[in-house]
Amino acid sequence: MAASVAQTLPVAIIGAGVAGLALAVMLRRRGQAVAVFEARSRASMTEGAFLTLAPNGINALRALGLAERIAAVGIPTLGFEIMNAGGHRLIHLDERPSMREAGADSVTLRRSDLLGVLHQEAMALGAEIHFDHALAGIEVQQSGVRLAFANGAEASASWLAGCDGVWSRTRRLCFPASPDPVYTGLTGVGGVADLPNVPSTDGLMHMLFGEKAFFGHIKSGDGPVFWFDSFPLDEEAALARLDPAQLAAMVRQLHAGDPSTVRRISETITEIPRAYPVFDMAHLPRWHDDRTVLLGDAAHAVSPHAGQGASMAIEDAVVLSACLEDRASPEQAFALFQTLRQRRVEHIVKVSRRIGSRKQATGRVALFIRDLILPFFVRFGSRTTRAVTRYRADLAPLSKPAL
Ligand SMILES: Cc1cc2nc3c(=O)[nH]c(=O)nc-3n(C[C@H](O)[C@H](O)[C@H](O)COP(=O)(O)OP(=O)(O)OC[C@H]3O[C@@H](n4cnc5c(N)ncnc54)[C@H](O)[C@@H]3O)c2cc1C
Repeated sequence: MAASVAQTLPVAIIGAGVAGLALAVMLRRRGQAVAVFEARSRASMTEGAFLTLAPNGINALRALGLAERIAAVGIPTLGFEIMNAGGHRLIHLDERPSMREAGADSVTLRRSDLLGVLHQEAMALGAEIHFDHALAGIEVQQSGVRLAFANGAEASASWLAGCDGVWSRTRRLCFPASPDPVYTGLTGVGGVADLPNVPSTDGLMHMLFGEKAFFGHIKSGDGPVFWFDSFPLDEEAALARLDPAQLAAMVRQLHAGDPSTVRRISETITEIPRAYPVFDMAHLPRWHDDRTVLLGDAAHAVSPHAGQGASMAIEDAVVLSACLEDRASPEQAFALFQTLRQRRVEHIVKVSRRIGSRKQATGRVALFIRDLILPFFVRFGSRTTRAVTRYRADLAPLSKPAL
């Protein structure tokens, strides 16, 4: 139902994704009234496959009081293995030592479980959440902003948090000179399936540089298989919405010549609801003006290869909320927020892009070189990852992270 919110809200949050709901929880915990406006329906929160939260994301969730609840609905993800199409193991990385140092395990969970817990908590704390409210227009007024929604509703707020993802309408309306997200050349799909004949991966994400695509899966005990696939696709084809059966046929065909476990999983896939063309944004000069601030993918869209986008979005919510408490006015808080966050998130966007480029190697020579250097690349990269995952947004949100 279209809700015209009569009184001026202190804070309006656009988008009930990871960043928007995490921010709603943080602000409500600090006693701030908030309203969240989400373009999609309540039912669509069950969409999407799964994601992995890194230790820094789980630790950021401690500030929301939700780390244990989230860990309880996911699979501890303690390291990974990577094989090549010939079935040769290129790398096996046990990440438990760095997770011990960080104070949390990585956790793989359904996206709907993450959003469900955040949504439930935001509601329990008294946040207003309006679904089917797609932001269409923003008018800056003397005392705040007036928002217009595609369903005809309107609302006023003292300030606005744009948490509306990579294609952020807030960003386009408030910062029209911003660069557009860039297509990385890769498209991702994923799913969760009950496949009793697939063996458990014992806490590891198993990944494969297949002949034509990069496949990953994890299975805990008798639980379901969480799988993803990532493949090069030209932008036009990636943006054309493929039929679920066609997409599944494509994934089966991409892995027809690959080692047995991956082939076995891919052969069972009959429908994939949608594909995600991977876009990122290396640098956004302005994340805020006096009345508006951007968080999550809206400010720093990151490709999924580093497994950090959702964790960064949660960290953003924790840090922004601390900045608001520390500074006298929202505009001062927004400026501090960008200063504290920008270097870290831009570094991760770069690292993630580099990881993605390894997935696009083709030709025998390039593949030979990739297989040769990958173990060094991963071991060296794991030192950087360690520095990234050690950061504690829950303990020191106003300190500038080393990375
Ligand atoms: C295939 C894939 C796999 C991924 N895997 C991982 C992973 O393993 N680990 C990880 O950490 N990250 C992963 N990511 C990245 C992660 O999903 C994002 O970084 C994260 O969801 C960003 O959160 P967000 O809240 O900023 O944006 P989103 O989660 O995209 O939420 C934005 C919300 O805003 C809403 N919205 C959009 N426009 C409007 C509007 N005009 N008005 C109102 N609402 C609007 C949207 O409907 C949406 O609900 C993956 C991404 C993809 C595509």
